[in-house]
Amino acid sequence: MNYFSTRGKETVVNSAQAIVNGIAKDGGLYVPAEFPKLSKTLDQIIELEYKEIAEEVLYSFFNDFDREQLKDSIDKAYGRFSNKEVAPLVKKGDAFYIELFHGPTFAFKDVALMLLPHLMINGSKIVGEDKEIVILTATSGDTGKAALEGFTDVKGTKIIVFYPQQGVSEVQKLQMVTQKGENVLVVGIDGNFDDAQRSVKEIFADKALNEKMNANDLTFSSANSINIGRLVPQVVYYFSSYAKLVKDNEINLGDSINVVVPSGNFGNILAAYYAKKLGLPINKFICASNKNKVLSDFFKDGVYDRNRDMHLTISPSMDILVSSNLERYLFEISGQDTEITKTLMNDLNTKGVYTVNEEMKEKLKSFYGGYCDDESTLAAIKEVYEKYNYVIDTHTAVAYHVYEQYKKETGDTTKTVIASTASPFKFAQSVCEALGSFDEKLEEYAYVKELAKIAKVEVPELLAELEHSEIKHTTKCGKAELKDIVVNFLKLGK
Ligand SMILES: *Cc1c(COP(=O)(O)O)cnc(C)c1O
Repeated sequence: MNYFSTRGKETVVNSAQAIVNGIAKDGGLYVPAEFPKLSKTLDQIIELEYKEIAEEVLYSFFNDFDREQLKDSIDKAYGRFSNKEVAPLVKKGDAFYIELFHGPTFAFKDVALMLLPHLMINGSKIVGEDKEIVILTATSGDTGKAALEGFTDVKGTKIIVFYPQQGVSEVQKLQMVTQKGENVLVVGIDGNFDDAQRSVKEIFADKALNEKMNANDLTFSSANSINIGRLVPQVVYYFSSYAKLVKDNEINLGDSINVVVPSGNFGNILAAYYAKKLGLPINKFICASNKNKVLSDFFKDGVYDRNRDMHLTISPSMDILVSSNLERYLFEISGQDTEITKTLMNDLNTKGVYTVNEEMKEKLKSFYGGYCDDESTLAAIKEVYEKYNYVIDTHTAVAYHVYEQYKKETGDTTKTVIASTASPFKFAQSVCEALGSFDEKLEEYAYVKELAKIAKVEVPELLAELEHSEIKHTTKCGKAELKDIVVNFLKLGK
């Protein structure tokens, strides 16, 4: 399977190279030159277990890999999940929640990031890359820990994670700064996620630095959802959810469903869009934003405008104004036109705003954009708990609120799946506040225990450990200093 950049089709690479590179040289994102087809029909797919669907989907995108090796990687990755269904679907009221947080770091990023290191290492063997891979990652909170967990002590790799000091939850921060391992560096930046993401993209594009890397037998790659190896594993749970709905007689084979996805960088919902392109019947893509509602505005009027202040919210993993994966969607709705995509991305970089043409605007109609502020997020958590005795996290609450809003507005009764993207424990303080158990004097970790009491479950072991783990990473930097940090860590001199 060949891939080229959303900004130019001239240079073609195979899937292994696309994963190893992470981002294309021209700054664009890798997309399949020809969109793959599954070798099985939908009625066959729905008979499969999660890991088998994963094998089917992954092999269709990454067919330069050895199929047996892919299968082995899938087994290893999902063997780390505490739920053997990997992404169980639970019904509460008229909505179905895909619980995507049963991996080792308690957010949906694990679904892809437990697999990515295997894809990267096997991929580099396939393309004959013998340099050490340096993973550079900007995180809004959850990618960082999941990437660390995946890449720590993986031979042939180093990993550097940049997180915004103000703008992640205490649990998220603790998870990252206590990370053990010889090959890792975690750095808090004095800026927000967009600052981190922009700097990281600049480092990827820095010719002189890349030459120096080369000379030292090092090469950069990305664990962010700009990497196609991040995106494809996320396609799987939309199929497995659909399969469950058919098996439970909630829908008939062939019926369409809606999906609701709390969105930031637009990776998760784009995976749903890719699932539809692979033949999964999806009616509406409901894109839920928090108060940083760039995406929600975009789907209303076709104007993407990042010229606004970033709000720090209680759903910090979505505090993003530049949604990188939207580029792959623009590429699709422009009729795979690299010139249009390049122009729009250029506008975004130079003016901070772009407007899609009328034809593209028409295509936005398969999406619905809505948003939810912090107050409504808290109310949503309370409502779901009181109605269904079910505790959801702040991001999932944003999705729930927007779904309720969508139903009110449209009267649509299509069966709907909500992506439940994080465990409530990760955002324990806000969740406790929503449930009326808030005390300013408590330390963050105390909320984890408090929540366990409320929800009548034990604190998951990997979270419980955090309370007494040693802080390993105290490096801080200004938002212009990321490159220096990288150069120092890799001992590349000035
Ligand atoms: C990353 C994240 C999101 C946003 O997903 P995108 O793929 O970036 O749109 C939502 N919720 C949680 C908990 C996350 O970690």
